[in-house]
Amino acid sequence: MLKALRQIIQTMLAQPDFKEALQLMVQHVVDLLQTDACSLYLLDKQRGEYRLVAAQGLNPDAIMKVSVPVHQGLIGWVGEREEPVNLENANQHPQFLSIPLLQEENYKAFLGVPIIYHRRVFGVLIVQQRTANCFDESTEAFLVTLAVQLAPVIASADASGKMAVLLENQHSYTEEARYAGIPGAPGIGIGTGVAIYPLLELDAVPDRKIEDIDAEIHLLEIAFAASRKDVRLLAERISPNLPVEERSLFDVYQRMLDSADLGAEMIHLIRKGNWAPGALRVVIQSHVNRLENSDNIYLRERAIDIKDLGLRILSYLQNNPRHLPNYPEKTILVGEALTAVDLAEVPEGCLVGMVSVKGSRNSHVAILARAMGVPTIMGVENLSVHELNAKEMIIDGYYGQIYVSPMSKLRKKFERLLTEERELNESLEVLRDQPADTADGKHVTLLVNTGLGADVGLALAAGAEGVGLYRTETPFLMRDRFPSGEEQRVIYRQLLASFAPRPVTMRTLDVGGDKVLSYFPVLEENPFLGWRGLRISLDHPEIFLVQLRAMLRASEKYHNLRIMLPMVTDVSEVDEALRLFKKACQEVMTEDVNIKIPAIGVMIEVPSAVSAAGAIAKRVDFLSVGSNDLTQYILAVDRNNARVANLYDALHPAVLRALLQVVESAHQENKPVSICGEIAGDPSAVPLLIAMGFDSLSMNASALMRTKCVVRKLTMDIAKTLLQEVLMMESAVTIRCHMELALKKLGLEHIIRVGKR
Ligand code: PEP
Ligand code: MG
Repeated sequence: MLKALRQIIQTMLAQPDFKEALQLMVQHVVDLLQTDACSLYLLDKQRGEYRLVAAQGLNPDAIMKVSVPVHQGLIGWVGEREEPVNLENANQHPQFLSIPLLQEENYKAFLGVPIIYHRRVFGVLIVQQRTANCFDESTEAFLVTLAVQLAPVIASADASGKMAVLLENQHSYTEEARYAGIPGAPGIGIGTGVAIYPLLELDAVPDRKIEDIDAEIHLLEIAFAASRKDVRLLAERISPNLPVEERSLFDVYQRMLDSADLGAEMIHLIRKGNWAPGALRVVIQSHVNRLENSDNIYLRERAIDIKDLGLRILSYLQNNPRHLPNYPEKTILVGEALTAVDLAEVPEGCLVGMVSVKGSRNSHVAILARAMGVPTIMGVENLSVHELNAKEMIIDGYYGQIYVSPMSKLRKKFERLLTEERELNESLEVLRDQPADTADGKHVTLLVNTGLGADVGLALAAGAEGVGLYRTETPFLMRDRFPSGEEQRVIYRQLLASFAPRPVTMRTLDVGGDKVLSYFPVLEENPFLGWRGLRISLDHPEIFLVQLRAMLRASEKYHNLRIMLPMVTDVSEVDEALRLFKKACQEVMTEDVNIKIPAIGVMIEVPSAVSAAGAIAKRVDFLSVGSNDLTQYILAVDRNNARVANLYDALHPAVLRALLQVVESAHQENKPVSICGEIAGDPSAVPLLIAMGFDSLSMNASALMRTKCVVRKLTMDIAKTLLQEVLMMESAVTIRCHMELALKKLGLEHIIRVGKR
């Protein structure tokens, strides 16, 4: 059954026409289940009805013509119940709706299964048969499984607009394709998509329109000729050492390359206006799918060969300068897994946004994007990268939304928001040299989070009083080996010099989880609960000590270094880290360098550290709450998973109570406590954090002015009252609404309005 399911879905995906793909699917189901009919109804939300879009065993003339109002008939009933309906005799059921055009009078048994994706019903899949017997359990289980696998395909078609086209829904044309992901960097970007595909990844190659068809065909022929020569040389070189059977593989390759079909199919697509790499992708993929679905083992193995050959031809095409991307004036990069290098290749001033299918807020490309103020969306499911190439797009980095080919109404709305954003930033400029003091005179220390040199200027320009979090893993992520002690010292010194005499808090290496070093892969079932942060540093004292010594040496004469330890679960880890820290200090002290022993602190990022905050505070000089991780561990919500992102909110009462507990524990030990997660720059959270007594807030440079604006409007009384009020509340949603209302009353509507729809 699993194989059959895979085949059905793969055949569907290989079919470029959505309608035909659905029709193929219902035909397969009838064949496989040996049933009399299978049909698919998709929900047309605009019209409030289910439309028959594919059918086998029913009157073919009914396809696209029959619709069932959303709350009527057995179809409406399945959708409403959101569970399978398995009936022995459908005609006798009170919900049965007779539609003569379907010609289903002879069918008695009925099994309908809803197609649901992320709680939303997209359609109903039905099988029917003449005999009046309920479908057996295995058929029901099969259809449920198929519907679950079908759901993301249909949701994706809905997002990309294919479904609207299929339903010929005139109303739908007033809506643009939308995708949702994780906000990677705030801001709004309006521009043109440029699909970036990694070298030698055929599946990611986008379609691209071309003008000069003959030139494109010529390039394809050159690539074919070069590949032919490669295969011949390879065969000559290694064939003598190969057994006859393996040698024949090269003959197969040559035959494929010589085959008039393969080249002709591609040329046909080029003549239709696609560029050579796009034509290559389509043709190779269709052959691979056909071969992979074959029952013959020999043919299935040929799928690998043809893929291999496709990559070889692609490598020649990709080498050609004509095939390098053109960057429009307002470029939005779109890729499976964008890298810092992709970003760097865009000409200066042309990059207005980025969208990455994979990755998270902590991917270094997202960190870089935040530092450079480029609106970015990460982790976008259901996105077909090559379809976004050359498309007009809007990206909303506040909410993680993407709008493709926006209608003018939406475009105008976002242009207005973009102007508001610009005006707000300009209006905040006047605050640069003003202190971050509340209206009643309490000073709040505002620090920045940084990871790269690129954001230092921005931070200083925004009037940061120092660095509350320097993510040292960034230079580690950017390399293909561990940076040496001296390389690290140079990087750290630059940062300390830029901020001196202001304090700079450097966090020791925090890799693991979703931050994987290519040269130090950590493959785990559950990486967020695994080997990460300080756990790795303690298990590799040679790496940890090199880093600590580099930090200490870098601080020479500046004396503005502070060090902090990430992902601490237990005091024993703190004790061991302190032992190594002392060792590093002693070693560096013997080198005749002018350093002072820096303050050392611990990040509170997991629930156990919240409970142990007092014991930890006793041992170190300061605490700093990493609310990004703390939120994910308290709420058990992966901070990078778009599917559960609606549950992730640092304003959850459980998180707020934990924050308060940490502040109280630190202050009982007379130790300062900072907060450096994203919450520190969230206007709705700032009054609460100040009222709790955090000694400093550390945030992205881009959030600094807004936070200062909030601080200056507040009084401690107002902040404390708000804290008392929200501590009585039961959910994050209520708390967020309450805080937004309070900010509005303080005249801070403009601060929360940017990014609000
Ligand atoms: C945090 O977890 O809140 C934090 C600041 O660290 P990071 O986001 O780098 O994990
Ligand atoms: Mg963290």
